[in-house]
Formats: sequence, structure tokens, C-alpha cells
Amino acid sequence: MKEFKAESKKLMNLMINSIYTNKEIFLREIISNASDAIDKLHYKSLTDKKIKVKKKDFAIIVKINKDERSLTISDNGIGMTKEELETNLGTIAKSGSSDFKNENEKKENIDIIGEFGVGFYSAFMVASKVEVISKAFDSDEAYSWVSSGIEGYTVGKSNKDSYGTDIILTIKDGEDYDCYLDDYEIKRIIKKYSDYITYPIKMNDSDNKLTTINSLVPIWSRNKKDISAEEYNTFYSDKFFDYEKPLTYIHTKAEGTLEYNSLVYIPSHASYDYYTKEYEKGLQLYSNGVLIMEKCSDLVPDYFSFVKGVVDSSLLSLNISRETLQQNKVLTAIANNIEKHIKNELINMLNEKRADYIKFWEAFGLQIKAGIYTSYGMNKDKLQDLLMFYSSKEDKLVTLKEYIDNNKEEKNIYYACGEDIDKLKLLPQVESLVAKDKDILLCTNYLDEFVFKIMGKFEEKEFKNVCSDNIDIDTESDKEELNKLNTDSKDLLELMKQELNISDVKFTSRLNNHPVCLSTIGEISVEMEKALNAIPSQEEINAQKVLEINAHHPIAKKLQELYKNDKEALKQYSKVLYAQARLIEGLSIDNPSEISNIICDILVKK
Ligand code: ADP
Repeated sequence: MKEFKAESKKLMNLMINSIYTNKEIFLREIISNASDAIDKLHYKSLTDKKIKVKKKDFAIIVKINKDERSLTISDNGIGMTKEELETNLGTIAKSGSSDFKNENEKKENIDIIGEFGVGFYSAFMVASKVEVISKAFDSDEAYSWVSSGIEGYTVGKSNKDSYGTDIILTIKDGEDYDCYLDDYEIKRIIKKYSDYITYPIKMNDSDNKLTTINSLVPIWSRNKKDISAEEYNTFYSDKFFDYEKPLTYIHTKAEGTLEYNSLVYIPSHASYDYYTKEYEKGLQLYSNGVLIMEKCSDLVPDYFSFVKGVVDSSLLSLNISRETLQQNKVLTAIANNIEKHIKNELINMLNEKRADYIKFWEAFGLQIKAGIYTSYGMNKDKLQDLLMFYSSKEDKLVTLKEYIDNNKEEKNIYYACGEDIDKLKLLPQVESLVAKDKDILLCTNYLDEFVFKIMGKFEEKEFKNVCSDNIDIDTESDKEELNKLNTDSKDLLELMKQELNISDVKFTSRLNNHPVCLSTIGEISVEMEKALNAIPSQEEINAQKVLEINAHHPIAKKLQELYKNDKEALKQYSKVLYAQARLIEGLSIDNPSEISNIICDILVKK
């Protein structure tokens, strides 16, 4: 018996005692080795005319023997000589495994096994004994390599008719392992991880006839012009378990120095868990048709986390580790391309398939807004053209660019925030501006105003909240008149302000028919106050509120009268007017029964 090298021992130990749950990947590793071995022979036959092997004969055969608890994976690839068996299987030599050498933390090691596999040794996760019988191409002799674990391995002469390799696993005892002797389960694992291996993977069917399990050519490797929309959609629903058709797909076949194929879908709706912490973004990552990662999150930015799809590149090695993945130049370059393609596709959809884009926007608009907000505006340039808001003038969703084009004379972009479009339209400040033919973006999402604040401007136009910002649309003489009224009524307004304990009370000329409205001064608007206070554990935030009274409404005169004749009544009126303004803004009132009593008193007097 020969001993394993120190590192191999370490890895074997980890495999044998693996607490890692995703043991099924051992089959992916073994099949992928078999596929590599066939590749090598195939290549040899292409470069050496004397070698006569036919591509159509290449196959990987998987057999189950329940009585012996064995699972055998055979290939007719290049095979291994005695020396190769020793060096290749006795030591961890290459690729991903070298990362492993530097790892001390057991937990991290297990992660690596999970995500990337560590090749041949993963067989020990499910097998108590592993036997490899191999006959190198061009050789007359076959050898076997046998190991039952950490103690070591033996190599000896064996018998095998033709070249290639048989890997015979004796599956561990115990219920947990019985599934690896189950026909259906093994087929499922093959389909899941090795569907697109380019050689047929065969198993016996119920009539004991060998049938091919895998699809052989992945859809993303095929020519775009040979693939129907239906095929694209079926692949999407099979692969990502979404039975609603995707809005669109982006199939890229990149050649040259950055060689990869990708097929990326934009779903038509958000999955039930999309806006939860449980949702994991990412694309499936393949290396030459072999799945290396279920969800590679580095391939998509957070703001496009809704996409589903696959990326396959021959430039990525099977054993690439998670740490090196992030710094992998190929992967970063692919990710950049994919991001650009998604953005272009969305812009195309916006311009050419408006109904689809609106569907997209309704499902994932929040994510795009969050992309601007959470990056403190860093992604603004990338994402701002994708934004949509409801225009009061157009009565539909428009982009910011469209708003500007529709309102060329305007210096600002006006918006109002509230619960829903209908309520917003009835807001006094909105109604009066609409009457003056202004276009207002009616915003119903709590993030909207935060996004505007972070953006500051869009193409030199400032965002203005019609409820809080100073909106300068009056003529000079109107302004003078209003100023005079406010100055003349200073004492009246001061009394009201004291009574209400708010930041200011003033007359306004911006309202049409409504008696009052609520506005704010400073950075925090009423809608922001609502959104921020909805976050648990946050300190209570108060917008600095201003009660504005319509200078042209009869109530203005009434207040002046009361100031002269009945200050107590003025206080009562102030309370009612402020309560009205709060209710219109969708805020609650602190003293509803008091307000109700005052109103009743007024009604009785009349
Ligand atoms: P990796 O595939 O990353 O090199 P493995 O531990 O899976 O690492 O395999 C070690 C080596 O054993 C392979 O590189 C290959 O040379 C050899 N090998 C494994 N399986 C086979 C096979 N079915 N046919 C020929 N060689 C094989």
C-alpha cells in the first residue's frame, strides 16, 4: 500500500468526513474528468491521422449495481498508464486544489468543495471504496488503482478489453447514500450538472437498452438563427422554473480574446421572493458545458439582479475558487459586457416595445431606483434613462427625458409624492399647478423623492417638490400683493403659528379653490418623513411644516376678522385648518376628538 501525499490526505480527510450536504456533485466531477479524457483522445485523433477513432463512438456510460452497491462510470477516452494512475490520483496536483493548500479554516474549505468541487477525491464523499481501472490508449496493459480512504492506495495489474477508464464506486452504507444507487436520482443529477457535456452520457433504460441522458449541445452554444423563440422560452421555463414567458432574452456569442456564450433573460414579473433577503442574484456559470456554479453573483450588478441566465466560457477553469473568481479578469470582462447588453436591451424595449417595458418597470422599477439611491448617485448616469414616472399632463408613465421634451420651456422638473395617483391629483398644490398647465410627476413610491434628492438634477433641470419647494410661478405684481398681505398679517400669522406649534403659517397665492395646504421647509418633506418613520428603530423624524392659507379664499378674510374680534375662535379655527391640511397630505391628526368637537361647535353656531 502506498501513502497519499500530505495535501491529498488533508483533502481526503475532509471528503470522507464531509459535513457538506451537496454531496451529489461528485458525479459532475467524475463525468467531467471522463469528458476531458475523451477530449484528449479526440484531439489526438484529429492531429494524428494514424489514430482511427470515430467521434460517434465516444461515450460515457453510467451503470448501477444495487446488489453490489456499486456505481460505475466508464469512458472510452485516453486512459491512464500505471505511472499516470499514481501521479494523477495519488497527489493533488493542480488547478483549484492549489487554493485549497493555503486554506486553514475548515469552513472555508467546505465552501470551496461546495461551489467548485475538487475533482476526483470528491468520490470519497459517497464511496467507501474507489476503484479505477484504466487502459491507456495505445497500450496493451490495464491497471487498477484502489483506495478505501486515508490509509493509502494500491496499484496493480488488471484486465480491461479496450482503452479508457472505469471508475467503480462502492457506495457507502446507510440510507443517506442509497439515493446514489437509484436510477432516477442518478439521471436527475446528470441532467442537473452535466446536461451539456458534449459526449453522450448513457444509462440503461427499463428494457436494458443504453439511452442517452444529456442534451449534448447547449442552446447557448447553438447558432442564434437556428433557435426559435419557443425554444428560447421553453429553455427558460425548464431551467428557471418560471412558467410565465420572459419579456426578452439576450443571446451573446462572443468570439476573439474574450470568448464566451451567454443567454440572459429578463423575466416578466418579480418572483415571490424577489424583494426579500432570501433572493439570490446570479447567473449559472459553465466552463465548456460543465456547470461550475449555480448562481455566480459576480456576473450581475445588484440593480440588474432580476435577470436569469447562463454564461459559458472555455476560458474559465472548472476548479476556479470563489476568492479568485472575484479577481478573475475574464469574469469581470464578461460581467461588464453582460451589464451593457442588459442596459441596451432595456433601452431598446423602452423605445420599441413600450408595453413590455412598462411591465418590466412595474416589476423591477423599484430595483432600478434603489440602484441609484443606494449607490449615493454613483450609478445615476447608468440608470437614469431607465427611470419612469407618472406625468400629470400625459396621464401615463414617462421617462425623465420625455418629461423634459414635453416641457421645453420649464426650468424645473415638478413632482408630488403621495399614496396613489388619484389622491395626488386632488392635492391642492397639484390641482392649482395643473390648472396653470404645469406638468407634474406624480410619485407613489417611498423611494421616489429620495432618488430625486440624490440625483439633484437631470440634464440641468432641478427637481422641485410642489409641496415643499419654493415654486416661483407668480407674476411680480402678484408677488408684491402677497408679500404685503403677509406683512400686514404678521401678528395674526404669528398667533396661529404659536397655537399650532409648527414652523410657519403664511398666506399663499398658489392654491386655486382649496383653503389650505401643508408644505415643508428644509430637506425633509412630508413623504420623506413618512418613509423614514416607517423604518423601525429609527428616531422619529419631523419635517418642518408650514400651513399655507389661500389668500383668495373667503377663509383668509374670516381669519382677519376673527383676529380683530375673537382671538379664542381664531385659535379654534387654526386647529381645524391645520388638521385639514394634514389630512389632505395623508398625515394623521393627534387630537381627532378635539377637532371633531370644534367642528361641531362651529356647525351649531351657523
Ligand atoms: P482535475 O480534473 O482538476 O485535474 P482531478 O482530481 O479530478 O483533478 O483529476 C486528476 C487527474 O486524474 C486529471 O487531471 C486526469 O489527468 C486524471 N483523470 C481523472 N479521471 C480520468 C479519466 N476518467 N480518464 C483519464 N484521466 C483521468
